[in-house]
Amino acid sequence: MADTYLKYSQTSVGKNLCRLLALPVPPVLKRAKEAPWTLVVDVLLGSVDSTVVSEPIKRILKGQMFRLQTTDCEHFDGLVFDATQIKNGDDSKALYQFFHLHLKKIRTSGKIVIIGLDPKQCQTSQQATIQRGLVGFIKALAKEVGRKGVTANLIFSATTLAVNISAPVHFLLSYRSAYVNGQVFTLNHNKSLPETPEKEVNWKQPLTGKVALVTGASRGIGASIAQVLARDGATVIGLDMEQAENELTHVMGQIGGRTIITNITDNNAAQIIANEIAKLENSVDIVVHNAGITRDKMIATMSLSHWEEVMAVNLTSIERINAYLLKNNHINAGGRIICVSSISGIAGNVGQSNYAMSKASIVGMIDSMAEQLNEKNITINAVAPGFIETQMTASIPVLTRFVGRRMCALYQGGLPVDVAETIAFFAAPQSQGLSANLVRVCGLNMMGA
Ligand code: NAD
Repeated sequence: MADTYLKYSQTSVGKNLCRLLALPVPPVLKRAKEAPWTLVVDVLLGSVDSTVVSEPIKRILKGQMFRLQTTDCEHFDGLVFDATQIKNGDDSKALYQFFHLHLKKIRTSGKIVIIGLDPKQCQTSQQATIQRGLVGFIKALAKEVGRKGVTANLIFSATTLAVNISAPVHFLLSYRSAYVNGQVFTLNHNKSLPETPEKEVNWKQPLTGKVALVTGASRGIGASIAQVLARDGATVIGLDMEQAENELTHVMGQIGGRTIITNITDNNAAQIIANEIAKLENSVDIVVHNAGITRDKMIATMSLSHWEEVMAVNLTSIERINAYLLKNNHINAGGRIICVSSISGIAGNVGQSNYAMSKASIVGMIDSMAEQLNEKNITINAVAPGFIETQMTASIPVLTRFVGRRMCALYQGGLPVDVAETIAFFAAPQSQGLSANLVRVCGLNMMGA
């Protein structure tokens, strides 16, 4: 449903009126359109000591895809700060100085990336302490720059060598991450997942030759996930319920995908999926658990069936499908499982105790399964959308919808494509360093921030 306030506030009359009434003016967000890796160009790199910037970071930014600038440049599209050398409070001055001097020079829709050291991997308690401080810093920064459409995110590297850092740096310095703001990406310290050499990465169509299953693919976020995965080169199998068959056939027809019609809560849904996969390749590379429902009511008036329906679709069916596909080796080595959670599962929401419980359980699932899946070289991650413009949110009462859209640092709802881009990023082969990550696609929503 169109956001009339967003449209109006971007006219000159609307902009002036908003300013007069001290109302927020949402920025126009720049998104990647056809080209999946639409990267920022002029980037400034800072660190505690310029002589000790991690080699992989320097190599990435000096590569052909970016223009590494010096401090005398007037404007930047991207600011990258290597904070891995910050060992204590005194060292944090360098962070202050870098952003104090250069933040004003960032263009609208610019990108800020800070690279820190995962506190769990730090050698001293003092370093772990100050590195954890970066989480607070990035969220504050993200809130300060959001009105310019600028996003700020943090990558925690497992070592100062920043192995596997290339994929998240590229994603966060691209317009694919338009609605990802104030988030932390943590690279795993896991030797069983080898790094893809930079020259072997297919940045344009990273999913070429991959087969992806997407549930709930007939509309909304699911349809967008299917489209973006196909754009990135994957063959997509879209799944939805009988009543959505026409829409699903239409979406899959546009991208040359295949369809599965089943209700994921049916006992034999996993076998039906496996049979369909068998017709194609016998196994898939990417499984996206997107299908989800809400049945909102205060717990005191909620019926048991509303509780059970939500748990069955949003949690139990996912567990059952994962177990079946994994047990029967229907997910290839190097595979990706990506679940769709919700910020309601992080912050809780009035009238959504069933939904919040199911979506928080997804976080538990990725945490508890990541290690065992590492052995099979499969990663598992989740995205937690905030307010995204779909049929699900179009049914929210008008005033709640208005407030919901403005409650983030970018003052607007996200689009299905914003969630889809983040999922495609996790699905890419070069993202093998990321597992058990929960990333919110919410523009840094105030809920649970
Ligand atoms: P939507 O209602 O527009 O689409 C959901 C899709 O899932 C539909 O195509 C539906 O037919 C399918 N589906 C539902 N139950 C199914 C079942 N039992 N078997 C097979 N398919 C089934 O929803 P959306 O807004 O696109 O949301 C997609 C996902 O994102 C959901 O998991 C939702 O919880 C999550 N999410 C959405 C938002 C938002 O703002 N829209 C916010 C947070 C999380």
